[in-house]
Amino acid sequence: MRLKDKVALITGAGSGIGRETALLFAAEGAAVVVVDVNDAAGQKVVGEIEAAGGKAVYAHADVSKAADCENMVKVAEQTYGKLNILFNNAGISHADDDNAVTTEESVWDLTMEINVKGVFLGCKYGIPALQRAGGGSIINTASFVAILGAATPQLAYTASKGAVLSMSRELAMIHARQNIRVNALCPGPLRTELLMKYLNTEEKKQRRLVHIPMGRFGEAKEIAYGALYLASDESSFVTGTEFLVDGGITAAYVTPE
Ligand code: NAD
Repeated sequence: MRLKDKVALITGAGSGIGRETALLFAAEGAAVVVVDVNDAAGQKVVGEIEAAGGKAVYAHADVSKAADCENMVKVAEQTYGKLNILFNNAGISHADDDNAVTTEESVWDLTMEINVKGVFLGCKYGIPALQRAGGGSIINTASFVAILGAATPQLAYTASKGAVLSMSRELAMIHARQNIRVNALCPGPLRTELLMKYLNTEEKKQRRLVHIPMGRFGEAKEIAYGALYLASDESSFVTGTEFLVDGGITAAYVTPE
């Protein structure tokens, strides 16, 4: 088991990448704190982990709220005695996020509150817990759009993921000598609720697929395996990276036919 005796906290664990990672981490021996705003979805994941013989507890938190983030870390330490792995994964992609002219200020603010401030608050309360545990691994979910521009605009989302990437690098430097590693996980486009809700026509899907060398969307499980590597001691010399799991999208100039 690759995460034996570790305690992992995963935000946005009720769905998509977070859910798959929670199931995988638990199967690899971690005790998992499943965090979400959607209580029914989060509790369902806890039930699935327990049914498979794993350990998990649910903590409700809106990651844009300081008190909620403080509490989720408290739940980890009170339930399992420590925190070793912090996966700041919760994020939104707003349906009305567009270009600079048409995007409402409220859409920009909400995206930044959850996607950027949520990672900051996770670290604000999670890092002292990792320090108390003697170190640990932080994984922040950014995106390939932190690296590449897209003509289909999602300006607030893209800017938020750029912030997550640069914040992760700086955190990695600040804590490099404290046995705390910080990496940004950059998924390519996935066949999850978050993206499929937005790419809601076949035409929109095809417009994206043409740029992915592998010719398909990724699966949340494929990102979970990347998170598993970054969470485990196997990545003990890996910090400050932009860990791309993207079907080759960032390597492409002309994609294969
Ligand atoms: P998802 O919508 O399937 O899951 C996101 C989860 O986060 C949901 O359970 C939701 O309830 C929860 N959540 C939303 N707002 C929250 C908040 N304020 N506090 C706590 N939880 C909240 O999405 P996903 O595709 O699994 O995305 C997970 C992460 O991966 C996000 O940060 C997203 O930006 C990123 N990402 C996704 C893709 C993709 O193609 N799906 C690509 C690159 C990056």
